[in-house]
Amino acid sequence: MVVGGRVSVPFGRRQVVAVVTGITQTTDVPSNKLRNVLSVLDHEPVIPEDLLSLLLWASRYYHHPIGEVLASALPVLLRRAAAADVPQIECYRWLREPLQPVSGRAHVQKALIERLAGAEGQPVDAGSLSGLSRQWRKSLQSLLNDGAVERQDLDALPKNIATEQPPVLMNEQAQAVAKVRGALGKFQSFLLDGVTGSGKTEVYLQCIDAVLARGEQVLVLVPEISLTPQLMTRFQRRVSGCLVSLHSGLNDTERLQNWMIAAKGHADVVIGTRSAVLVPMPRLGLVVVDEEHDGSLKQQDGFRYHARDFALMRAQKNTCPIVLGSATPSFESLNNVAAGRFEALPLSVRAGGAQPPKLALLDIRRQPLFEGLSEPLLQAMDKHLSEGRQALVFINRRGFAPTLLCNDCGASATCLRCDAHMTVHAKSRRLRCHHCGAERPMPNQCESCSSEALDFIGYGTERISQALQERFPGVSMARIDRDTTRKKGALEAQLSAATSGEAQLLVGTQMLAKGHHFPGVTLVGILDADRGLFGTDFRSLEHMGQLVLQVAGRAGREAVQGEVLIQTRNPDNPMLQTLVRDGYAAFAEAALTERKVAMLPPYAFVALVRAEATDPVAPHQFLERVVAELGNWQGPDLMTMGPAAAPMERLGGRYRAQLLIHAERRARLNACLKDLTGFIDELPEARRTRWSIDVDPVDLF
Ligand code: ADP
Ligand code: ZN
Ligand code: ZN
Repeated sequence: MVVGGRVSVPFGRRQVVAVVTGITQTTDVPSNKLRNVLSVLDHEPVIPEDLLSLLLWASRYYHHPIGEVLASALPVLLRRAAAADVPQIECYRWLREPLQPVSGRAHVQKALIERLAGAEGQPVDAGSLSGLSRQWRKSLQSLLNDGAVERQDLDALPKNIATEQPPVLMNEQAQAVAKVRGALGKFQSFLLDGVTGSGKTEVYLQCIDAVLARGEQVLVLVPEISLTPQLMTRFQRRVSGCLVSLHSGLNDTERLQNWMIAAKGHADVVIGTRSAVLVPMPRLGLVVVDEEHDGSLKQQDGFRYHARDFALMRAQKNTCPIVLGSATPSFESLNNVAAGRFEALPLSVRAGGAQPPKLALLDIRRQPLFEGLSEPLLQAMDKHLSEGRQALVFINRRGFAPTLLCNDCGASATCLRCDAHMTVHAKSRRLRCHHCGAERPMPNQCESCSSEALDFIGYGTERISQALQERFPGVSMARIDRDTTRKKGALEAQLSAATSGEAQLLVGTQMLAKGHHFPGVTLVGILDADRGLFGTDFRSLEHMGQLVLQVAGRAGREAVQGEVLIQTRNPDNPMLQTLVRDGYAAFAEAALTERKVAMLPPYAFVALVRAEATDPVAPHQFLERVVAELGNWQGPDLMTMGPAAAPMERLGGRYRAQLLIHAERRARLNACLKDLTGFIDELPEARRTRWSIDVDPVDLF
């Protein structure tokens, strides 16, 4: 038995897989309560000592049970009793040009053939092929049938060979690379604060080269699964070494394989989404967190860790530098720069001489609107389209309209299980709740009074695309949101149409905002920025600013300067004006001043205790009891606020309440939560609710 290795143990009447966290000769547990280990599964740790101690720390920091923390760190197959070996690696080798037509989508075929034929007779692993497209197997099968390709499995992951030379770095890029290279072998945190298109990825790539030359591994975290294939292909062109990706698109076997390759130290670069931060890497020499401001780096249920914060702890533990990159850094990171904990590496100009986009507010008060679109915006679109360029319209709501309202009685269609309106989906003629997933057919009559005078209130991507199609007949369009990209391969197809310029008009939600490079887009229209100004959450404003600038960053990334038009009914709002006129840094400074005055994070520390139950009063009773028990903790430096109903009280048929704990010092918050976890389970009220603790919550819902 080894610490960090798995054992099979009895648990009640069941038999479960457990991880050994320590070995001791003595215990206070009475001997009749002790049980024997049934079998030892690993003779070497699956979780090495350094990572294990971080996971133990995280369990204390997030006040989450260690068992679940360890389970989150293991691939599903290792949570069961699968062997912790690197399996044979599924690989394919190019033999000759295909004789028959290849099936599958054209861009998938092209990418696949390029990759296999480009390997010059060397086998290419399935993992890196799967990064090309989720539909790669279909085209591969037809290449196999044709005899153009053969399968050849290997014991170790083949090395990727770079095919592209690095460009000459611009001044600021070169300085950033020099700083990070200078810090290799030491713990240091950098904030790569670079405007959209300033060449942050290029900086990562050139730092990575130096790390690989030292024989060390690099961990690259990205927020979105849709961004991993893009980044992976770019890395494959540039990095010589073993590259693996870890994201939710892998099946259990692929995930175990890539995890083992990273954990055994065979992988040189691991690119992954959030949970990749929990993967063992014995030679870790650099951590990169791209789009570090992105909310999806925070796990929102179960073990609610923040991948950026965990990554910082890992870099410290492994004595290596960490680079957090963003065009719109989180307020936490800006505060860390101000406090001297992070070093800022600014990239202030766009690569390739592209100009920053020009932002302007469009006052739409008392303006005639065509389906929510103002005349100046439509005219600007017309102009850009007729000059042969692309336009992008951003609205962060999917579906046709967020509300179906009766003109006779005023009733709106609501979800039966949530305090929410049902969203109208016109094409499928259904009403859907975007919070719990409930759906029903769209009624022809009011559900309350049977009147047929029903109105669609508000706009979603479906309605906006329909309106634009009407206004610009003959213009090709791509709509990118969760509904249009649900099918396998649909997202890649839409993104590739957007990138190639085949789709002239793009309409989408925040899926369009993140990290993509659409060379032909020169106009961006933002329809609903106002919502972020009045959000219920203290982070709403920060998120609005980040989203607006990220979307804006899609405009004019090449020769022609981009134009960004933001429709608003609050053109005099000082925050919106600062954002548009003076940019993100000025906006963040102003917003941070407000946070400081209000004593909100990052100037204070908060945790949220959430409770939910089918009974509306149980969560409140429970949290009130918690407040009473915490009586002695309350004082000038620690306050509890609530309990209060959650902003959306009823969700999926359950009532939700929450309690905010606010402290001036981290240590005090942590001590209070430790006390709380000691008694909370024992409260009789706890039996009637489901509760959780969220430390450093990213939203208060
Ligand atoms: P970011 O990650 O900041 O959005 P990228 O690294 O994707 O920026 O760079 C934007 C574009 O500029 C890419 O097409 C990239 O190849 C190009 N680029 C980056 N750095 C340079 C450079 N030093 N010289 C020429 N082109 C560059
Ligand atoms: Zn009615
Ligand atoms: Zn619902």
